[in-house]
Amino acid sequence: MQKKSLIIIGSGPAGYTAAIYAARANLSPVLFEGFYSIPGGQLMTTTDVENYPGFPDGISGPELVERFRKQAIRFGTTVISEDVGDVDLSVYPFHVKGSKDTYEANALIISTGASANRLDIPGARDGEFWQKGVTACAVCDGAAPIFRNKPLFVIGGGDSAIEEAIFLTKFGSRVYIVHRRDQLRASKIMQERALNHPKVEILWNSVVTAVEGDTIVRSVAIENVLTNRQTKHEAGGLFFAVGHTPNTAFLKGQLELHPNGYIKVFKGTKTSVEGVFAAGDVQDYEYRQAVTAAGSGCAASLQAEHWLTEKGFI
Ligand code: NDP
Repeated sequence: MQKKSLIIIGSGPAGYTAAIYAARANLSPVLFEGFYSIPGGQLMTTTDVENYPGFPDGISGPELVERFRKQAIRFGTTVISEDVGDVDLSVYPFHVKGSKDTYEANALIISTGASANRLDIPGARDGEFWQKGVTACAVCDGAAPIFRNKPLFVIGGGDSAIEEAIFLTKFGSRVYIVHRRDQLRASKIMQERALNHPKVEILWNSVVTAVEGDTIVRSVAIENVLTNRQTKHEAGGLFFAVGHTPNTAFLKGQLELHPNGYIKVFKGTKTSVEGVFAAGDVQDYEYRQAVTAAGSGCAASLQAEHWLTEKGFI
């Protein structure tokens, strides 16, 4: 079993910022970036990041992650390209199981983020049209030929829905945002972009009730929730943008969570287990921004360093 003073699980802005601070404090951190889970997290599926300070012309999500990664490695972070399948927080040092080895850690930072949700709609399930025109990531899949010059539908009313819809206007003939209410949750600037875009139309008070097709998606059924009127629309693709679920399943109940599944933190980034810290979207259901995730990654690293010093490990 390999012994480490600090292990960071997750490779989004929170994990890499924690790694940069810990590496610069000579903690020689080990960071699990994931393998099947997307290394880099949600930024990897974001086109233009326009609100991360320091990039007045914007930067693509994957490029920003690559910069974080380089900076973390430059100061001495070891990046392991594996998913963590299991942790044991009942023993000390904590046990962290990668796909090849088990590690012992004196302190842990959990920054595993959150993953895009799907809706259970007839026709949209696994083995039906899921990944045959139905996806939860327009930025990853939108350029596929099956979506070219077809009407495309995005479900949701938040910033993700708008961002995905605008991205899809490059490929689809027209993009419809299907939103269950009569008001968008998205920020004002994003709302204006959607409302003013000539290829975007919002279907208010509406839900998708079925997806149909042959080998790929050909149509969606939409119900107006106020009138209960059902309509059928030609469609080349359906994209979910209906929020996220925190990636905490691997913790198997060993940390206190909020009822919505996000990790509970106290006094900054401390969790219910001493020596375990949580940063980024896995503990934040309110702000969920790259910059707030990076900020909490910094705090987690500083708190972990203080804790390791207090316990006499460094
Ligand atoms: P949000 O939680 O903000 O929005 C989710 C949307 O999905 C809501 O409009 C919600 O509807 C809708 N929804 C949820 N469940 C269902 C359901 N069962 N049926 C139909 N609709 C449903 O998630 P986002 O992913 O959009 O955004 C997450 C965070 O990331 C936010 O803080 C956002 O600001 C940020 N973000 C920022 C971006 C940027 O600045 N460029 C880009 C993308 C995200 P309702 O409104 O009725 O609850």
